[in-house]
Amino acid sequence: MQQDTSLFARIIEKTPVGIVVVTASGIVRFMNCCAEQLFNVKRETLIGNSLEPFIGVEQHDGATWEQMIRHMATGELTETTLMLQPIDRDDTMCKITLFSLGKDTDDAEQFVLTFRDITQEILFNEQIEKKNLEMAKMNSELIRWNAELKRVSELKSNFLSIASHELKTPLTSIKGYSDIIIDNMRDRIDEGVYRMIESINRAADRLHKVVNSILDVTRIEQKRLRLKPEMLDLGAVAKDCIDDLTQFSQKRGITFNCSFPAVLPQFYGDKMRLQQVFTNLFSNAIKFSPDGSPVKVTIAVEGEERFHITVHDQGVGINKEEQRNIFDAFYEVGNANRHSTDFSKFMGGGTGLGLSIVKGIVERHGGRIWVESEGVREGEFPGSTFHVMLPQHAEIGWDDDETKTLIVERDDDKAVDLEKITEMINEKPVILFIDSDREAVEIARMVLENAFEVLVAETGEIGLALAFSRHPSVILMDSYLPGLDGYRICRILRSQDETRDIPIAFFSAGTQNTEIQKCFASGADDFVVKPFSGRELVDKIWRLLMKKKEEDTFK
Ligand code: ADP
Repeated sequence: MQQDTSLFARIIEKTPVGIVVVTASGIVRFMNCCAEQLFNVKRETLIGNSLEPFIGVEQHDGATWEQMIRHMATGELTETTLMLQPIDRDDTMCKITLFSLGKDTDDAEQFVLTFRDITQEILFNEQIEKKNLEMAKMNSELIRWNAELKRVSELKSNFLSIASHELKTPLTSIKGYSDIIIDNMRDRIDEGVYRMIESINRAADRLHKVVNSILDVTRIEQKRLRLKPEMLDLGAVAKDCIDDLTQFSQKRGITFNCSFPAVLPQFYGDKMRLQQVFTNLFSNAIKFSPDGSPVKVTIAVEGEERFHITVHDQGVGINKEEQRNIFDAFYEVGNANRHSTDFSKFMGGGTGLGLSIVKGIVERHGGRIWVESEGVREGEFPGSTFHVMLPQHAEIGWDDDETKTLIVERDDDKAVDLEKITEMINEKPVILFIDSDREAVEIARMVLENAFEVLVAETGEIGLALAFSRHPSVILMDSYLPGLDGYRICRILRSQDETRDIPIAFFSAGTQNTEIQKCFASGADDFVVKPFSGRELVDKIWRLLMKKKEEDTFK
């Protein structure tokens, strides 16, 4: 028994909770070691005195220490948190409990108070709360930044889209006039000037390509890339693209080795877009490989469902940390000049747009693209392998069909020259231009006036009057016109017997699908995108005339 008592006494003495026994009036009768530490006072000093100076009245709503003990003793408040004010030490927060020990020999009730130091706990909780608040703040900042980034990105896409369209109009003049000089005026100008004009013409073509790439990027970013799907032989498409690049690959002594089954299952996709994918990957392989190195192209069918295309070069390679970024728009690592003899001459500088368009097209077909490379090593050619995985039956709905938006396919071989037209058609056909863009009309007039009688109307109303009075063979008009717009004119012409059959083509700098659909919906036969070349225009008019002739024959 004695042993037990001494054990309990030791436990109470050593327990890491402050234990204090007080009378009902708050006079200390006992305290353990931990309580001494908490109050920073020796028990000899405190026993027989009140604890009140260590606690402070204001903490329990003005009640005295004694009142508080009584209050706790009733059981209403069994636990509370108080700030202790130890001697010569910082305040500590304690959790306090109180229970009655019953009466002592003097018939006075005694209470046990326990004090648990929770200062660290509170500090910790405060820190967590602070962090939580900071995180909530950061989160709302992030949400705000995200929205801002989205807005800026949309602004950027819109800006690029508008800027590209705006660039197309002046490009019409540059391309159109230089075409006219190259095609018709060679004998009238100095050879040096002729070369300069050729150079301007090529620069216009390059700029046109860049503008089209920017438009593709904005289409992809704005999820507006439409496809014209058909059943395709991927191997044949790849080979055609390799053939188209022969001029460049031969110049660099680069050979393409193809390895794919003689008969591949058909792939359902957009031919023109897949040509873009292959051409970009192949021309990059040429661009970033040393002269005379091989490029290997494989197409394999994996499982029943997927095509796995690889393009492997033995070029400069791509560092691991760049391998994701290269698929971002406008991203260039800029290492082409490390190996190539005259890369800039043969391909022109890059724009950093190619792979982002490739990725957009591949993903639009439900596929994915990635690259493998050991990274760049000075003086070595570790090479890169681009992988494209395409599902055999991509889920491309027919509502994605872009057939109607297939605009101008530039095909110089098929271009028809003016003399041939005049030979075939005895009378000069009348072409009516309805457009307020004088530059474009002037170019068209210069290109066409030898073979056609060209009528020009700068407003829709005059155009309409000329269409009824002169009954032209073909009408070319802009969709945007002051006053009566192109769509309304087209509808009016289609509704009247005397003008119903006149072939009509719209021409405009806009290539938005909605805009093109609107043209066809209003009854147009075709659509010419600005900047158009003289050859395209002649070709377009020729086709419209021939189509009309065929229709008249079968009537
Ligand atoms: P660019 O028009 O500049 O070639 P791309 O989007 O096609 O733009 O490519 C982005 C960058 O990726 C290139 O500037 C080049 O650094 C890197 N890259 C692309 N293809 C290869 C390749 N086959 N080998 C090495 N680097 C490549």
